[in-house]
Amino acid sequence: MIEQRAVSLVGSTGSIGTQTIDVVCAEPERYRIAALGAFRSVDLLIAQAAAMHPDVVAIGDERFEKDLKAALPSTIEVRSGPGSLESLASIGDVVVNGVVGFAGLEVTVAALRSGHRLALANKESLIAGAPVVQQARVTEGAEIVPVDSEHCAIHQCLGPRLHRDSSAASTASDFHEHPLGVRRLVVTASGGPFRGRTSSELEGATRAEALAHPTWSMGPKITVDSSTLMNKGLEVIEAHELFGVGYDSIDVVVHPQSIVHSMVEFSDGATIAQLSMPDMRLPIGYALAYPDRIGTAYGVIDWTTTPQLTFERPDTETFRCLDLAYAAGRAGASAPAWLNAANEVAVAAFLDGRIRWRDIAAVVAETLECHEETKLAEVADVLEADAAARRVAGRLVVSREQS
Ligand code: MG
Repeated sequence: MIEQRAVSLVGSTGSIGTQTIDVVCAEPERYRIAALGAFRSVDLLIAQAAAMHPDVVAIGDERFEKDLKAALPSTIEVRSGPGSLESLASIGDVVVNGVVGFAGLEVTVAALRSGHRLALANKESLIAGAPVVQQARVTEGAEIVPVDSEHCAIHQCLGPRLHRDSSAASTASDFHEHPLGVRRLVVTASGGPFRGRTSSELEGATRAEALAHPTWSMGPKITVDSSTLMNKGLEVIEAHELFGVGYDSIDVVVHPQSIVHSMVEFSDGATIAQLSMPDMRLPIGYALAYPDRIGTAYGVIDWTTTPQLTFERPDTETFRCLDLAYAAGRAGASAPAWLNAANEVAVAAFLDGRIRWRDIAAVVAETLECHEETKLAEVADVLEADAAARRVAGRLVVSREQS
């Protein structure tokens, strides 16, 4: 008999959340939803709970608690308010963190501290809170299986080596010689909707243009990050933290077809790549099933019709965010938290129509110039660094809004 895995899904109403429910529904004998949580999309949360019958449902915004209680049968426990989402991180066998942005930090830390497998789609928590997350990661039973497609690809390329020496890959430091024989990680980027455009062509780039991603279907925040290459910059930091590879050994190549999801080059010159159609349900299913695999394929490659696979250097002059991220990653300590916070503030202002597309990189760069390094030992330190950066970035947004 197959053992059924219970999934605690935090951020259930977003893009990762709804796709996770797809994956679970495709194989009901193997997976079930034990808990669902969202910040405030109460109607969708109610519909999901009615369909999935979880044990617990949580809503971050407590004003919606009475709506939830009125709509759901009394057999489902309702939690609400601050701390309710992170409380879901100790339920089930796998915790999926599909929260958008820095708000996912507490869920990441709580899942690891309770010794769970964390299917991590929320890269911001690992990037901003790396020193705290790495500490939590050594808890017995705790494990991160990345849902980000590039890191999921690298995880697949490393394969059984991760099991053989899992401690090696779970501590991030700049190894001279990587214990898994890794010489270089090659992280692929689609290039986003503005690939091939020059700075002057992007002067008047609109919200709708930035949200029109050529290959991936994702939420608005990450789609804008993809248009600036900040998403790739954040992923470089994420790769460093997840796999313990130094920044000099992580390269980014633009691969517009989004078929090769990333590669690992080993010390003997062999390169292993992971290829599949661009669909987030594969990395989600991988993180649920690992070390097994789900039985459902969300698209397969047709080698007779697949166009050429091409690779090119990223244009770091036009897309400044990539280098900003490398610099913040190398600086370490609170710098990645500042990078992430400034970017979240700038992207939100762009989506609200308050600043222009090219101002996103400018706000991030100027915020980082004001960065004062602090030590991140506890979640509270990360929250403080994040808040400090948001204050600076917020002022910079206002100054650009008026100009
Ligand atoms: Mg990605």
